[in-house]
Amino acid sequence: NIAIDARNVGKIYGAGASAVTALGDVSIAIKQGEFFTLLGPSGCGKTTLLRCIAGFETPTSGCISLSGRDITYTPPNERPVNTVFQSYALFPHLSVADNIGFGLKMQGKPRAQIKASVERVLALVKLEDFANRLPAQLSGGQQQRVALARALAPEPEVLLLDEPLSALDLKLRKEMQSELKRLQTETGITFIFVTHDQEEALTMSDRIAVMSAGALLQVGTPHDIYDRPVNRFVADFIGETNFVEGRVEGEGVRIGTGDVLSVTLDGQAGEVTLAVRPEQVSITKAGMGIAAKIIDATYLGTDTHYMLELGDQSRMVARIQSNSAGGLKVGDVVGLRIDARAVQVLKS
Ligand code: ADP
Ligand code: MG
Repeated sequence: NIAIDARNVGKIYGAGASAVTALGDVSIAIKQGEFFTLLGPSGCGKTTLLRCIAGFETPTSGCISLSGRDITYTPPNERPVNTVFQSYALFPHLSVADNIGFGLKMQGKPRAQIKASVERVLALVKLEDFANRLPAQLSGGQQQRVALARALAPEPEVLLLDEPLSALDLKLRKEMQSELKRLQTETGITFIFVTHDQEEALTMSDRIAVMSAGALLQVGTPHDIYDRPVNRFVADFIGETNFVEGRVEGEGVRIGTGDVLSVTLDGQAGEVTLAVRPEQVSITKAGMGIAAKIIDATYLGTDTHYMLELGDQSRMVARIQSNSAGGLKVGDVVGLRIDARAVQVLKS
């Protein structure tokens, strides 16, 4: 079942010489009950897409439907959609309970119903004991929970979250990540979450859409996106990647002095670029695999990063478990092996 179906959505701000194309031609289907993430660098159009779904912006072209109903021109307050912003935007002079109930009161809901809704969402975000406090008497994380509770109170079908965690410090952010995940699972509401943080996207999402310059580059599960990036931008944006030159030989690709790796080819021939994750590179004795030299080593606790130089002066990073790296040091001449199963031959 599809919650949000965006078809060929384009958005141009302004007109003439000052026109900015924020969204090119975006088509996306987000399933009911999904934790869906829009991931991409600043300025790629994430907020614009959310604002079109919320109704704060009207697309210049295309249409958006919610559970099969066209909402392209429906006013924001008539959509079963709510938004949590990065700035919590709580009313400073209202108690936590009144902040949460504010929207329901504006809708003219009866007092008893508002009270019941506020109690329900306060329990959901575990702030039962804070109902009568003012926002200034809460920590940043607690204020974020109030903002979430306020957005959940009207029981939206879809909750939009525009970089809601980016103002929090690392520890609190990790805590709120699992909190959000729990809230989504417990309520079953479709979450559309925006972040520019690839790690956050990988750990939280059912599916991710990677965006760049107003376009969707790839939509898939975290595994799809990490293991099978469609192009160099996605591979580079999602985690650390080695881009390695190789040549097609028979059914595989050879890098430097190494053996032919049996990778999945899609008609490519001659010189190709491979995306190789640092954890797929292992280091063995000189004379085996691809000849290389260790030119730098960075100890990262559990893992150590080795910078390696190949015969043609190109470089590769290997991420090796520190306790299995035994005695490797800068200046050593070694051999590299690459796990062919996870190598991706890039299209461009
Ligand atoms: P993101 O949320 O991914 O950082 P935005 O959707 O905010 O990206 O912006 C996409 C592009 O549209 C950017 O180039 C931005 O400068 C431009 N933009 C956003 N809002 C407006 C606006 N109200 N008027 C003109 N240009 C805008
Ligand atoms: Mg934004």
